[in-house]
Amino acid sequence: MSKAAKKKIRKVLVVNSGSSSLKYQLFDMEKEERLAKGLVERIGAGGPANHSEALKKVVEDLGNPKDIDAIGHRVLHGAEVFKDSVKVDKAVMAKCKKLVKFGPLHMPANLGGIEACQQIFKGVPNVAVFDTAFHQTMPDCAALYAIDPKYYKKMGIRKYGFHGTSHKFVTQAAAEFLGKPLAKLNIVTCHLGNGSSLAAVKNGQCVDTSMGLTPLAGLVMGTRCGDIDGAAILSIMEAEGLTPAQMDTLLNKKSGLQAVSGVNGGDMRDICANAAKGDKAAELALEMWAYRVAFYIGGYNTVVGGADAIILTGGIGENSAEARERVVSRLGALGVKLDKKANAKTRGAAGVISTKDSKIPVVVLPTNEELMIAKDTTRLLG
Ligand code: ADP
Repeated sequence: MSKAAKKKIRKVLVVNSGSSSLKYQLFDMEKEERLAKGLVERIGAGGPANHSEALKKVVEDLGNPKDIDAIGHRVLHGAEVFKDSVKVDKAVMAKCKKLVKFGPLHMPANLGGIEACQQIFKGVPNVAVFDTAFHQTMPDCAALYAIDPKYYKKMGIRKYGFHGTSHKFVTQAAAEFLGKPLAKLNIVTCHLGNGSSLAAVKNGQCVDTSMGLTPLAGLVMGTRCGDIDGAAILSIMEAEGLTPAQMDTLLNKKSGLQAVSGVNGGDMRDICANAAKGDKAAELALEMWAYRVAFYIGGYNTVVGGADAIILTGGIGENSAEARERVVSRLGALGVKLDKKANAKTRGAAGVISTKDSKIPVVVLPTNEELMIAKDTTRLLG
């Protein structure tokens, strides 16, 4: 494309098309300002019949805009094919469709959202932003599983990692916050939400992350168990006569904080409230959760060769002073010291929660995955 043919990208629609809902945000990228956001629910279950109908509802909600310059889409899995976000064309869609096996639940909905936009916003370019792309710089020693390599070669069984858009956003935000060039930045980023993951970032690039082939691995999460001995899974399946699909539900939807604390959904607020009332199961859930986060921070501090900062983000990382204290108080061996006052008053905003003499600063930085998608869309098209 010649320079003259390139259009200035101002208004960017960000679409997160899931299996039963479609979330959107509209940005003015000149000011990096959000103009609108919304959610269409119950797709195929009493609400709109499909993603195309859902998108028509979005167009209505936005008042039939004619000035959208580009659309950015959250796409779960780019496998090893997409190491960065990409402008969507026929070849890209064909490649994406081959990756549905990596996310049979999410990928069809993500791609359905792109196709709906192609139909409804005719001529408006679409960009796919992959949750896995940021982690594609991991070296083999971190990414591969120690099993017969034929499973990697034939089936692509390896660690991919997720939440890449969030880890990338807070990595860029950390460079700015700390006043360090991205290329020299060594940090551990902790995305702590309902789903949670850590990334080890060395010289601005991801060198390890805690999720794996799927988002099941790593930390203890709301309803996912995180790391577990594979043989334990086999034992349970055998003893209970479970199918792979049933076991998948058990590990992804009926485990984690929910299973240990007995709190439905494993919501951190409820678990903290129960623990404060002396509930032993909630207390154990919190300690297991914090232990695992601290354990990974220690490992990733080594992986990045000594972190310039530890970054906390996500619903829990940004808002829960109690959860943060439980993690940070376990990092004494790294010379990390919590500033209790700063921690207590930091909520939903950027701030340092460690003391001045802490060997590694601990920084809360709110994530913004939608803005990251809009930025990538502008970068690729603008
Ligand atoms: P998701 O992974 O679904 O995007 P979020 O990043 O929104 O999740 O995080 C949801 C988690 O954040 C829940 O466990 C919730 O309890 C927790 N959380 C949100 N706000 C607060 C708060 N003010 N205090 C404590 N925990 C909070």
